[in-house]
Amino acid sequence: MTRNLILILGDQLTPTLSALRAGDPLHDRVLMAELTEEASYVRHHKKKIAFIFSAMRHFADELRTLGWTVDYVALDDPHNTGSFSGEVARAVAENRPTGLILTEPGEWRVAEMFRGWEQSLDVPVTMLSDDRFICSTAEFSAWAQDRKQLRMEYFYREMRRKTGLLMDGDQPEGGKWNFDAENRKPASASLFMPRPYAEPHDAVTQKVLALVVERFDNHFGDLEPFTYAVTRHGAEAALAHFIATALPHFGDYQDAMLEREPFLYHAVIAQYLNCGLLDPLQVCHAVEAAFREGSVPINAAEGFIRQIIGWREYIRGIYWLKMPDYADVNFFNHTLPLPDFYWTGETDMACLRAAIAQTKQYAYAHHIQRLMVTGNFAMLAGVEPHALHEWYLSVYADAYEWVELPNTIGMSQFADGGLLASKPYAASGAYINRMSNYCVGCRYDVKQRTGANACPFNALYWDFLARHRDKLGGNPRIGQMIRTYDKFSDDERAAIATSAAATIARIS
Ligand SMILES: Cc1cc2nc3c(=O)[nH]c(=O)nc-3n(C[C@H](O)[C@H](O)[C@H](O)COP(=O)(O)OP(=O)(O)OC[C@H]3O[C@@H](n4cnc5c(N)ncnc54)[C@H](O)[C@@H]3O)c2cc1C
Ligand code: SF4
Repeated sequence: MTRNLILILGDQLTPTLSALRAGDPLHDRVLMAELTEEASYVRHHKKKIAFIFSAMRHFADELRTLGWTVDYVALDDPHNTGSFSGEVARAVAENRPTGLILTEPGEWRVAEMFRGWEQSLDVPVTMLSDDRFICSTAEFSAWAQDRKQLRMEYFYREMRRKTGLLMDGDQPEGGKWNFDAENRKPASASLFMPRPYAEPHDAVTQKVLALVVERFDNHFGDLEPFTYAVTRHGAEAALAHFIATALPHFGDYQDAMLEREPFLYHAVIAQYLNCGLLDPLQVCHAVEAAFREGSVPINAAEGFIRQIIGWREYIRGIYWLKMPDYADVNFFNHTLPLPDFYWTGETDMACLRAAIAQTKQYAYAHHIQRLMVTGNFAMLAGVEPHALHEWYLSVYADAYEWVELPNTIGMSQFADGGLLASKPYAASGAYINRMSNYCVGCRYDVKQRTGANACPFNALYWDFLARHRDKLGGNPRIGQMIRTYDKFSDDERAAIATSAAATIARIS
């Protein structure tokens, strides 16, 4: 008889997951299921679906070798009901377990569903916290309580002290908490850019790829070439490859963008971290070890570790602190539908074309492309934040709501009015020109502010400030830009409004 049924989700592929630790391979069964509902409630990128299904199938095999009995329901199993509730109800009816054990999911919607099961399935449900994170949700709430501002930098220092990473006694290694002043260099196209780790397909992945072609051919994105690792071993190889080939330059060129260089010196490991194939603390220890051995400079090691124990943990804390209302905040009352070119990539704006083309090809864009190209443009143009959130959630292989939503709604759109970011990440074409080589090949002129040939970011930027001056005028850094706008002549301000309106009309 089955004692407990343990449900494992597609982003819980960790053998030491709390639900597995609470169970016993001799008496309990694991349930894993590929679900149409989850694969298509937003139309996820084909590569993302293939990655998750293949990693799930490999993880089920890993659990079996550890002695677990795993019931794995493939997408094309004729009995598959297609939903969590349907599959759990079916397994409960078949196995009559005495209890259901779960690790809390990464999405509010799913957590709500789980909470209803004890009543609807008439089985005791134990939902355990997900302790694969460095900061628990309770610890984050305690940190956030009574603070006027929730600034990542202060949270990050707490996480450095807690983990002991890059600490020299109770002081930060190198005498500073943050070495960003040495980062953010633009990149030259002549730099050698390493390629991320790539793996050939095995038979399991091959079958999944065929399934995705059959069932999800109308979803966004290119399925091939598919080079993601799909096992823990592969993900660890990807991390080792990153540390050896790219990490030394990670800090220097973290914010740079180059045509035909989608990855630069980024790690391309968020998809492995977020589904549980890599452990955040182990990743940071490996990076710290490379620094201590002298193969990686402090600005790279510190910059990288900050992304993981700082930003990643902070973003998760904000999600659980502020959901469910956070999903619908819209500080600027933006209502523009998402422009079609976010799906087709068909635009004359070279920066957006490049970011969207590589998103389609790799299910990947690095942070600055997400923040300062696709995100910045959407905010300046006035795109409805929830529609943009669904786009980011669909198109990136690393996108799960707990991490994607605060990054989109809070960081990139300032739709929470400044809870997460101290000012909107709004920039004109000058920023993109400084940090990339996109403008060289663009049909628009980044130096012109208005007119048919002017870079559309420019008029949109000034028009955005003018439209939202009531909401932004009090912000010291943005207020200064509004005062600059006020010094423009009447004719210039009218030309800005006309150019911005023309861009918005063109993309509506
Ligand atoms: C609008 C927008 C949407 C985003 N959506 C997601 C998402 O769905 N999933 C996701 O994992 N990240 C998201 N990010 C954060 C960041 O862009 C990605 O983590 C990063 O680009 C992943 O690529 P990488 O592994 O090469 O990261 P690197 O640049 O090499 O950074 C290393 C690691 O740091 C972590 N990290 C860095 N920045 C962040 C951040 N802001 N929030 C959380 N973790 C961070 C990631 O785990 C990443 O793998 C988003 C950012 C923006 C602006
Ligand atoms: S000119 Fe403007 S639209 Fe063209 S690439 Fe540069 S920033 Fe983008």
